[in-house]
Amino acid sequence: MASRTVEDYIKQIYQEQQPVPGQLVSLGRLATAMEVVPGTVTTMVKALAEAGLVSYEPRQGVRLTPAGEKLALHVLRRHRLIELFLVQVLKFDWSEVHAEAEELEHAVSERLLERIDELLGRPGFDPHGDPIPSAAGEVAQPRLHPLNAARPADRGVIARIADQQAEFLRYATARGLVPGAEVVIQSVDVPGDSITLLVQGKSRTLGRAAAAGILVAWQPEAAASE
Ligand SMILES: [Zn+2]
Repeated sequence: MASRTVEDYIKQIYQEQQPVPGQLVSLGRLATAMEVVPGTVTTMVKALAEAGLVSYEPRQGVRLTPAGEKLALHVLRRHRLIELFLVQVLKFDWSEVHAEAEELEHAVSERLLERIDELLGRPGFDPHGDPIPSAAGEVAQPRLHPLNAARPADRGVIARIADQQAEFLRYATARGLVPGAEVVIQSVDVPGDSITLLVQGKSRTLGRAAAAGILVAWQPEAAASE
């Protein structure tokens, strides 16, 4: 089994490569994301390349090989299933499960993970709306849009909370901005940099920076104008 450090790097490279799979990630960007000095990243990336998990192009960056992507999806599967288990079964708040899952994702056995998956009914999404890769490494990629790009009268359903800092998740919960909630855009205030929407029967105004952390699946225009 891969070491914890290897898994953390591979997972981070996968996330930095989104939303353009296959793109090169600069080592500077990776160092910032991993909160380490660039020299540390260079050493690690060379070791990952030797293990066949990444391809490394000096001075340009790094990208996952098919083996690296398989490992990344497997780590994300563990992380997201554990988050859902903690929320649904152990009744943790969704703002506190990420830190727990960061630890447990490296420790959980395949046998335990399989039992959790079965118990939860082979779910497709975690509590934040992040897709859970299947055991075979397939992952759903629904077309979602950040709420800050909405126009008046748009309507849709919140599908994913991209900003998963605990503070933001508590802010979102307090306003009913959770996956599955229906939203209708009432107005967009460009000079005021805010957006007003109807969510769970209440009118809410939020700054567009906050709105950028929320992803929505919009209904097609035809449905919106009914
Ligand atoms: Zn999550």
